[in-house]
Order: sequence, then C-alpha cells, then structure tokens
Amino acid sequence: MGVLIRAGLAAIAVGALVWLERRRPLRRTVEPALRRNLRNAVVAAMGGVALRLLERPVTDRLTAMAVRHRIGLLQRFNMPKWAETLLAVVLLDYTLYVWHVLTHRVPLLWRFHIVHHADLDMDASTAVRFHVGELVMSIGWRAGQVLLIGVPAEALDLWQKLVIAAILFHHSNLRLPIDLERALVQGIVTPRMHGVHHSVVRAEADSNWSTILSVWDRLHGTLRLNVPQDEIEIGVPAFRTPDQLGLLQFLTIPLVASGRDLELADATHQYRAR
Ligand SMILES: [Zn+2]
Repeated sequence: MGVLIRAGLAAIAVGALVWLERRRPLRRTVEPALRRNLRNAVVAAMGGVALRLLERPVTDRLTAMAVRHRIGLLQRFNMPKWAETLLAVVLLDYTLYVWHVLTHRVPLLWRFHIVHHADLDMDASTAVRFHVGELVMSIGWRAGQVLLIGVPAEALDLWQKLVIAAILFHHSNLRLPIDLERALVQGIVTPRMHGVHHSVVRAEADSNWSTILSVWDRLHGTLRLNVPQDEIEIGVPAFRTPDQLGLLQFLTIPLVASGRDLELADATHQYRAR
C-alpha cells in the first residue's frame, strides 16, 4: 500500500474517533478544548520529533543486529515468519506493561510519567501527551526489549503501529455500548478500563497498566473494572486547575515538582468539590 493511502486511512480513522468522542462522550470535560488540544498537539510534535531523531537510529541498528547475529529469544528458534512476528508483538506488549509499572514505581520515571497523568481530561489527545524526557528514557528500555526478545524490524514496526492505534483508542473519551465494551475488554484495553488508571486515587491508578492486550493485568491481578466512570476524578491531586498546566508548566513539572506534588490520593471525595 502506498504511503499516502496509508496516511490517508490513518487520518480518516483518527478523524472518525475524534468525531465519535464528541458525539458519545464517556466523561464530562473540565478544560477548554481549544487550549488543551493546542498544548497537547505541541507536546505530541516534540515527542514525535525526539523519537524520530533519537529512537529510530537505535532501533534500526539493533533490529538488524538481532537478526544478523541471532540475538534474543525468538532468534534461537527457526519458526515461520508469521509466528515470529506474532510472538514478537505479544512479548513487546508484555514488556511494555513492565515498563509502564516501572514508570509508576521508580521515582525518577514517575516525575516524568506524572505529566501524562496530569491531564485534567482524558481523550485521544492524552494518548500522545508524554513528556519528551519520558520518551527519551524509554529508548533504553526499547533497546533492551529488541535485544532480549530478538525483534526483527518489521515486527517492531507493526507493534509500534498497533500501540499507537491502541493508545488513541483506550485514552479516547468514547462511550461504547456497555455490552460491546465488556466483550472487548476480555481481549484488549478499553476506554473505561484505562480511565480507571488515570484516577487521582492511588489504588485506582495502580491498576490497568496494559497497553494492547488486557491479559497482562489479568495475569498480574492488577485488573480493575469496578469503578464507575462518573466517580473517577481524572488527573493528579497537586494539579487541579488548567492554569497550573500551561505548556511551560507542563515541561518543567519533572524539574520543579516537590515530593508532595508527586503523591496520589487516598480517596476521591476531597478532589470532587471543584
Ligand atoms: Zn500510567
């Protein structure tokens, strides 16, 4: 398929998702849309450029090296291409679950990941709203994933596309019919499932770390689906108003945040009166 056709199809899919979010919103919104979308777009552009310049040269080299020198788990077996690709995608998805847990558990990583959680609303634009520092640090993890699993370039490329589709979908503010959502969450991460992860309450944020497949949270006992969306307060306790979250504040949170700013809440009720 031509690059232009693929880009066109992707643009149509994203457009349809944004249109559906507006028609069938899952959660009420807090911040004015224009300002928030502009800021998230700038942040996304910075992240995109950083990954293109810094991650791509690393993964291009390491995927070629893994195949040529038979480095990593999958390179130890002679399996059909389709099986190798499938296993690579599944194992990359699992090791991304582990990375996501680390971004919450390792204080330095949480300083950066909290910026993603600080969004007061959650929709498809939240999906691309990661601090550039977190993205740069994730390159080291990505290098480890490629070499440990033995990932060929095509499998990494496919997985990265699936990750983008998955994060746009599960961050979206799309109210799916509940029966459809219940069926989907058996296999993949859904908007209501990931909504619980973006709660100000620690016990809720410490759940639902999966990206594509929901099975990793099931296996680790970290799946949590019993929180109604209208009871969830999205964000982090220290940053509750839009004027705390302008572009400059956004970029400097990891550098200036105090220990208190980085804490999550014990209960929701104290943050609901706004
Ligand atoms: Zn998180």
